[in-house]
Amino acid sequence: MSDARHEIETLRREIEEHDSLYYTKAVPRISDQQYDALFQRLKDLEAEHPELITADSPTQRVGERPIEGFEHVEHAVPMLSIDNTYTPDELREFDKRIAKALQDEPYEYIVDPKIDGVSATLRYANGKLALGATRGDGRTGDDITANLRTIRSIPLKLRGSNWPDVLEVRGEAYWPRDAFNRHNEHRIAKGLEPFANPRNATTGTLKSLDTQSIADRGLAFIAHGAGEIVGASFATASEFFDALSDWGIPTTIHQRVCASIDDVIAFVEAWDEKRHALEYETDGLVIKINSIEQRDRLGSTSRYPRWAIAYKYAAEQAETVLIGVDYQVGKLGTITPRAKMKPVQLSGTTVRHASLHNFDQVERLGADHGGLHENDVVLVEKAGEIIPQVVRLVSPGAKRGRKIEPPTRCPVCNGDVEKDEGGVYIRCINPACDAQIKERLKYFCGRDQMDIEGLGDVIVEKLVDQELVESFADLYALKDKREKVEAIEIEQQRKSGDDVKTSIVKFGEKRTQKLLEGIERSKGQPLARVLAAMNIRHVGGSSAELIADHFKSMEAIAAATEEQLQEVDGVGPEMAKSLRAFFASESGQQLWQDLQNAGVNMTQPDTVADTSNAPLAGKTLVVTGTLEQFDRKEIETLIKRLGGKASGSVSKKTDYLVAGEKAGSKLDKAKELGVEILTEAEFVERFVSQQ
Ligand SMILES: [Zn+2]
Repeated sequence: MSDARHEIETLRREIEEHDSLYYTKAVPRISDQQYDALFQRLKDLEAEHPELITADSPTQRVGERPIEGFEHVEHAVPMLSIDNTYTPDELREFDKRIAKALQDEPYEYIVDPKIDGVSATLRYANGKLALGATRGDGRTGDDITANLRTIRSIPLKLRGSNWPDVLEVRGEAYWPRDAFNRHNEHRIAKGLEPFANPRNATTGTLKSLDTQSIADRGLAFIAHGAGEIVGASFATASEFFDALSDWGIPTTIHQRVCASIDDVIAFVEAWDEKRHALEYETDGLVIKINSIEQRDRLGSTSRYPRWAIAYKYAAEQAETVLIGVDYQVGKLGTITPRAKMKPVQLSGTTVRHASLHNFDQVERLGADHGGLHENDVVLVEKAGEIIPQVVRLVSPGAKRGRKIEPPTRCPVCNGDVEKDEGGVYIRCINPACDAQIKERLKYFCGRDQMDIEGLGDVIVEKLVDQELVESFADLYALKDKREKVEAIEIEQQRKSGDDVKTSIVKFGEKRTQKLLEGIERSKGQPLARVLAAMNIRHVGGSSAELIADHFKSMEAIAAATEEQLQEVDGVGPEMAKSLRAFFASESGQQLWQDLQNAGVNMTQPDTVADTSNAPLAGKTLVVTGTLEQFDRKEIETLIKRLGGKASGSVSKKTDYLVAGEKAGSKLDKAKELGVEILTEAEFVERFVSQQ
């Protein structure tokens, strides 16, 4: 055992070292294969010795199942935004204010590229990553620890020594250009719409509930500031960043200390060119006073610190001719317009498309000219390096073409459309719309639902396009259409040297066989997955599991009243209502009965062995706040192992609330309902230590 412990610890240190070399310093010392071998060895050893798994092991970056949602957390120190300037003169004004406030004592600036990513804060308690959160409104953000843990450049445990008891690091999560482009190529190869820009895609990614998919995207993080720090102090920001670097937190190599505002302005001018070559998008620089003591004296207004200012490069604009408008249909049927334009150069790239956001925007653009028309001259802007957008109609075209109008039918299925609740978007309301059917089928086959091997996004699209599949149940009839499936043509990409060659090939016998076997196998999935795969509003994977465990059969769920559904822990009124509406509808009934007739399993197997003697047998627990010893997944697994149930929300049926640091609304609710509240230590002492 001690041998295994020793090897595990050594492997972890080695992997951390290589992660840091690769992700933070970009100088890998071993090949990917060698790295994978180390990682696999660690995984194997941990599988043999599960008691040695700790939250900060590199194998634990990705959670096994989707997370349920995000809790609000209050920031110990508010995350203020920074005031903007756009010209050197404005920078000199800022400098005058500083000089006056500091009564002409010497001071220096520290200048950083302003990364166009998503602000986040990382909190390390005793050197371990305890919390990661979004900026939110600056005072309260969302706890996205599980998602930030998947970013490999963020250490789960600080390196070196002498770290403060509490270290809060502010920074920017972003999607490096290369990784972003690579991901988009995969999306295009799969027939998906590429993401428009890294920043918005990063926001979406960090709010995803599927940690595995986040890990696959290769996001990165760079620190740019400090939050709460307990047990250390720094004279200057430069010192702070040096310390961060020693502790393994990624910092930028492009930081510069400037002795005067003239130096700052020279740096700003030199950067206008260089910034396009960075691995992240940036639209400016952030200029801060270097001395922490001077910062304290300068203080903040209610919105901005007085010791910092951002310099933003002007957005690049160009005029071009609008050729036409595409309509894109999303998975919920939302139809968005996109401008097709005569190619134009913007920020060093050729731009052919620009966002029109929605039809309200189209109307606003054309308001002074009787509407927006094909052949009109428009002004396109690329602000903050994000996706170009049409900002103005400059002049009507000499030969005006068709007027751009909201579609009256869905461009994909020709079905009815309506304005959505907000009145801004137009939505296709035909439930049989191909665009929507495809998205639902992809979800159905997904790894966390029916997990059908061989049925990727490309094939789903082809099956729908060729009218081989319209509903979930149709998948199970594919075995009678084997020849048609084999004949499906797909693109195949082959790499030879640096070239990628694309050829069209038949799906063929072998792939079809594998696909049909995967489909057959999925019939045996437990009820929980079948329920999740049906994509009922508000019913995610974990809820589906609780519901399936409780009712045991689809028939029982379909027959349950809202009240009966709410007897299940974790099922609130909204979910119960949504389930009831689904099973009461003709299409809902049809859907599950067709699946049943196709031979799909509709029952839930009994869970594990008899746990009636286990310490938590029959007990329901809710965990909230930040714990010291466990992360959320660990403690939930532990609760299950001890025979209990871990639920996401507090109700009268909750037996215990385990409350960590910064527990929020769940703690209040538990107090209100008289639920017994345990600290982490009490929980361990009462139920774990006696094991
Ligand atoms: Zn449609």
